[in-house]
Amino acid sequence: MLTRSALIYLSRQEGLKEFAARFSLFRKLTTRFIAGESIDEAVAAIREINAHGCTASFDHLNESVGSAAETEAEVVEYLNVLARIDETGIKSNVSIKLTQFGLDIDPELAYRNARRIVEDAHRRSNFVRVDMEGSNVTQVTIDIFKRLRAEFGLNDVGIVVQSYLYRTLKDAQQLVKIPARMRLCKGAYNEPAEVAYPEKADVDANYIRVMQVLLASGVYHGIATHDPKMIDATIDFAQREGIAKDAFEFQMLYGIRRDLQEQLARDGWGMRVYVPYGKHWYPYFMRRLAERPANIWFVMKNLFK
Ligand SMILES: Cc1cc2nc3c(=O)[nH]c(=O)nc-3n(C[C@H](O)[C@H](O)[C@H](O)COP(=O)(O)OP(=O)(O)OC[C@H]3O[C@@H](n4cnc5c(N)ncnc54)[C@H](O)[C@@H]3O)c2cc1C
Repeated sequence: MLTRSALIYLSRQEGLKEFAARFSLFRKLTTRFIAGESIDEAVAAIREINAHGCTASFDHLNESVGSAAETEAEVVEYLNVLARIDETGIKSNVSIKLTQFGLDIDPELAYRNARRIVEDAHRRSNFVRVDMEGSNVTQVTIDIFKRLRAEFGLNDVGIVVQSYLYRTLKDAQQLVKIPARMRLCKGAYNEPAEVAYPEKADVDANYIRVMQVLLASGVYHGIATHDPKMIDATIDFAQREGIAKDAFEFQMLYGIRRDLQEQLARDGWGMRVYVPYGKHWYPYFMRRLAERPANIWFVMKNLFK
């Protein structure tokens, strides 16, 4: 049986992508979680998401950017995405990863690149979410975000916090004071017990604590989860505290619990779908498999049938 950490390990072996992609069926299975390889395909997916009453966030997949020149291509991609959102009128913002913009090469380069996207989004009245990555970059990601937030408005740029990290409750309490818009998620990386709760029950309990800090702050945040227990706890808290349905939004990933996405939108809750697209889909796809053993069996069964 493949464990979660084994799959996360495999997700870092880009060479396997070439092997995996040779199975046309494997490729087809990825379309459940990835909107396509081009902006056009992502736009088409978002039109459909919008038609079901949900908004979206573009995510150009590319986690292995190794040179300053490659980061430039990422910036150009995102500037194109922001232009396409305006041209097409689709309801979407964008999510970026700082490693994509050069964080591993030079944090200043990542800051300058991210700034160009936030500036363009600001000009277009759109919004940029800075995704959170592994715990080795948590602090530098928050630092860069704070610089951007100091230069731009609350509704121009936001950040992500992960409930599996011990530090997150304190981070969230400090970030709401700025104020800053946050996306709360559980966290998708393989983290050691020195920095993250090893037990799922503790990650969930912390998720609920942080969710309450966010909702009580009066700032518009994103509650990102597919977990019905987290969603129920959020709805209960909002109803108990008299927090309006449009004072925050739920967020889910493309292709995961579409039934629940549409149900929440029908019930009048804000619902945003995160839409990954691009040629470098392999690590993202493997992390989604790592989250749910049933998905692995689904892939295996179809590969060997
Ligand atoms: C919009 C959005 C943005 C995100 N951004 C980040 C980020 O910036 N940084 C980061 O570290 N992580 C991010 N994540 C990933 C997140 O941290 C979790 O890894 C992921 O959402 C799974 O956690 P969960 O809350 O859905 O709960 P879990 O406890 O993992 O799952 C609860 C239930 O949800 C369903 N489910 C969960 N995952 C799947 C799946 N892959 N396939 C089918 N059903 C599933 C199952 O019914 C499962 O029982 C993001 C997630 C979302 C939804």
